[in-house]
Amino acid sequence: MTPAVYVHIPFCAKKCAYCDFVSYPGRLNEADKYISRVLDEARERKQEYGIQNIYSLYLGGGTPSLLTADQLSRLTDGLTRLFPPLPDAEITLEANPGTLKPGFLKTARSLGFNRLSLGVQAKQGRLLEMLGRIHCFDDAAEAVEQAREAGFDNISCDVMNELPGQTEEDITETLTAVMSLGAKHISCYGLILEEGTPLFQRVSSGELRLPDEEQARRLNLCAADVLEKHGYQRYEISNYALPGRESRHNIVYWTGGDYLGLGCAAHSFMDSERFSNPVLDEYLKGNTRTEAYRVDEKGKLEETILLGTRMVRGISLSDIAACYGIQTEQVLQHKAQELKGLVSIDEKRLSLTREGLLLHSAVVTELVNAIEDL
Ligand code: SF4
Repeated sequence: MTPAVYVHIPFCAKKCAYCDFVSYPGRLNEADKYISRVLDEARERKQEYGIQNIYSLYLGGGTPSLLTADQLSRLTDGLTRLFPPLPDAEITLEANPGTLKPGFLKTARSLGFNRLSLGVQAKQGRLLEMLGRIHCFDDAAEAVEQAREAGFDNISCDVMNELPGQTEEDITETLTAVMSLGAKHISCYGLILEEGTPLFQRVSSGELRLPDEEQARRLNLCAADVLEKHGYQRYEISNYALPGRESRHNIVYWTGGDYLGLGCAAHSFMDSERFSNPVLDEYLKGNTRTEAYRVDEKGKLEETILLGTRMVRGISLSDIAACYGIQTEQVLQHKAQELKGLVSIDEKRLSLTREGLLLHSAVVTELVNAIEDL
């Protein structure tokens, strides 16, 4: 087995206003202990699954760039010794522009990281402030420069869309600025308003207003237009890349490949089993795998539809017929006809159109319901 490996680094400088990820401000003093625990878990999983090599490595969070260079070295050396990456493996480090220390990215590059993912989010100070981010756009530009000097060529930037008060001019300005930094890959995520966050409170109280359905649709289409006009191909609902710069690690998630998540709250899909780890305190006590379930054949088909249709290339109907029978293929073909304009079929691949991607959940529900009784 050659899985993709994700490692969750749960420490943050400050909680962002929209964030409900498992991340902790003020606990960085536990990073050494945490790294030891992650390496222990990696040893256990290596034995359990007989892992020899890994397909990709992704250090995400939280804020991995809060680690010291020594901590990053100990973690990465330990992991790559246990799990040697394949020679052409994509090895990604997530970084927050407000946290980079001199020399950190040089260390990362020397450890084998060959891709950097930066959380830029927006160009406008007022939007960054509303999101509770600790950086400004100039910090992001500075981070990209540091990354380039350190030898990173494959740089990805995260941008947020569908924010309260965000206009089409704002998203255009942000994406234009990020493209001019030389990002090879851009993730453009719509805001998901999570209950219990400060941003949720401000929206609930009426102080801020989310874009309505039509405004959200326009912001989304505007982002796609700007990026595609500049040669960034959309390959997933929220992800765009210059040719050949798609995230190989993330594609594993959407195509049903094996991935191992290490660290607190990390999720895995290994040998047809999904499981996740507990939050930090439990994890540090040595507990792992709080929830586990085996995905049966029906579940796999539903996941193929749910995740595979996130990708612009869609899913192969020939593969569906081979795995689940010709009748399943025919039902999906028939449903695709009914959903014309939202779903298309081309060369035996079923995919969602631009409009269909905007309504992804609803379209997937229709497709999954159609095969429910087979
Ligand atoms: S940096 Fe990321 S993980 Fe940390 S609080 Fe902000 S959004 Fe959450």
